[in-house]
Amino acid sequence: MASRIPQSFIDDLLDRTDIVDLVDGHVKLKKTGRNYSACCPFHKEKTPSFSVAPDKQFYYCFGCGAGGNAIGFLMQLANLNFPEAVEELAGKAGLTVPKDDSITSKAASAASQAKTQARNQAYDLLNRASQFYQSQLRRHPERQKAVTYLKGRGLSGQIAQRFGVGYAPTGWQNLMHELAPEKEQEQALIDAGMLVEKEENKRRYDRFRDRIMFPIKDYKGRIIAFGGRVLGDDKPKYLNSPETVVFHKQKELYGLYEARQHERNLKRIMVVEGYMDVVALAQHNINYAVATLGTSTSTFHLERIFKLVSEVVFCFDGDAAGLKAADRAMHTCLSFMEDGRQARFLLLPDGEDPDSLVRQEGNEKLTARITEATPLSDFLFQRLGQDLDPHNLEHRAKLATDASPLIETIPKGIMRSMMQARLSKITGLDKDTLAELSALKAPSTVPISDVNTKTQDSPKKKPAPTIPPGSAQITTHNSADDYSDYRMADINSDTVEDSHHWHHEHYQSSFTTEHSQPSRQHFSATLPKVQNPAQAAIRIILRHPETVEHIHEIPAHLAELKMQDARVLLQLLGAVQAMSKLLKRWPNPAELHIECASWDAWPMLRQLAAMESLLPQGDYPQQLEEAINRLLGHHFEERFNQLLHLVSLPNADATTKQQLKDLIKEKEGLQKRLKSRQ
Ligand SMILES: [Zn+2]
Repeated sequence: MASRIPQSFIDDLLDRTDIVDLVDGHVKLKKTGRNYSACCPFHKEKTPSFSVAPDKQFYYCFGCGAGGNAIGFLMQLANLNFPEAVEELAGKAGLTVPKDDSITSKAASAASQAKTQARNQAYDLLNRASQFYQSQLRRHPERQKAVTYLKGRGLSGQIAQRFGVGYAPTGWQNLMHELAPEKEQEQALIDAGMLVEKEENKRRYDRFRDRIMFPIKDYKGRIIAFGGRVLGDDKPKYLNSPETVVFHKQKELYGLYEARQHERNLKRIMVVEGYMDVVALAQHNINYAVATLGTSTSTFHLERIFKLVSEVVFCFDGDAAGLKAADRAMHTCLSFMEDGRQARFLLLPDGEDPDSLVRQEGNEKLTARITEATPLSDFLFQRLGQDLDPHNLEHRAKLATDASPLIETIPKGIMRSMMQARLSKITGLDKDTLAELSALKAPSTVPISDVNTKTQDSPKKKPAPTIPPGSAQITTHNSADDYSDYRMADINSDTVEDSHHWHHEHYQSSFTTEHSQPSRQHFSATLPKVQNPAQAAIRIILRHPETVEHIHEIPAHLAELKMQDARVLLQLLGAVQAMSKLLKRWPNPAELHIECASWDAWPMLRQLAAMESLLPQGDYPQQLEEAINRLLGHHFEERFNQLLHLVSLPNADATTKQQLKDLIKEKEGLQKRLKSRQ
């Protein structure tokens, strides 16, 4: 029986899908008032009677009566059944369709209903709050100071209206009395982030007081939070809504909805630091600015941006904090730099922000600055090369070791090749040497694409700074919240359960100590990328299942390793062998992938499988065997140390001594096999 898809997943999927984008990908839509229209794809017509409503996320044809949501559209268009359409849509959104467990489905569907209800309630309250704030800007007796402030910033009433700017008056319970006249209604306002409850005395009051209010909209135009800029001396100067059931600040970009409303086909998006900057730029007809909400630029942000445009400009203040933010954005951006995409960096003169600068310089001069902003490639070399003397050999080596792994994170293509060539030229080191440097250094130099360093109220999510973006998802389940990170993530080596670090030196000391001069060349020639041997083996098998033919015996010792990846490797080896028995031949990659698609580890496998470009060309059976031997070598050492310890105890028995002897024999056998290859 086909398993049911949990309702909560469908809700989430629809929430992440914009039907306008979806339909627009199939039939060109034209904006007509609030809605979009086109000639109906489901019946023949000359004048458009097909319409898409972005606010309702619904399509309808007045000609033939076709209508529905995003899933319905795909079903009708491509003649898919419901699960197929969900699968297709999930693929577009980077989500994996979960299997519903019938025992829990009842509870899950009740929970998801409650969640949907909570969301809808929050949208409704936030919308009413926004209307309240806007009306206060027009009517409140003290409105003048707000109006004076906005005028002082050069904002017209028209722009204020376009962004829904409002005023939260002084006083502690204005919004509360307006939206929650009954006590029972207050909790919903607390949940929506609009009221604060004091812990000591349970007193409840408005979160935003005496502030200019900026409603923050999601990409469908629903108000999900507020940002408030203080008018008096209150602290902090800028205050955002807390995280709620509808607001996840590291995923949202202020102004993106408004920018797309203004121009559906954006050419470029500029990331600035504050909402005031976004509004001020729009006032001067620069309508493509968006702001992160107190977080640094995240992979979620870049996913969204590059879905819409091919050019992103990062605009930061020229001070130390701005530079730091720019560095972080650069790191996060690298893995997105497919050919055809552009990223630029604009660092503003000291003491200026986009708001002040555009008022001083106007549209034309600022646009020129934006257009001429430093390309990512130049910016990277500028930042890494500062304070380094190009004539100094050590400095050149430092630049090489710093830049090489960063360049490696750029997707394979012209841009990466050009940057590699440029690094070669500056440092005088050839490509192979640089490749080795990046293989050696990568684990410790690729920084985390943190999304939370600038905020105080969000706890550090990942304590280890050496883990590059997304790697945490490799051994865990692909939670829906992490989907974009996950999709873009690079595979990293250090995802071993027992936090073993599989860097280069480890292999040398643990495994090849008795070899004469194990050369680095040897290792990096066969497995040049950072990865643990289990992942290397998995990758080879997924791309070339037939290589399993050369594994005559699945080494049972692998199961004893405290390492998730090794267990997955065993599972995979077993699956390939079972399939080959069934098929009477080796499965091809596609067949194998289908087989594995239901595994818990599939997200990791899929990611590894996709990384063909990182696989060195060559002798795959040998690489596979080598990888497995390395794992065994690691196992031997663990066992060896353990037994050695036992043997050294005064009450050591004969069995232990025999075990140690056997182990040494096995180890020698393995080393002989290895030696014969060199
Ligand atoms: Zn129609």
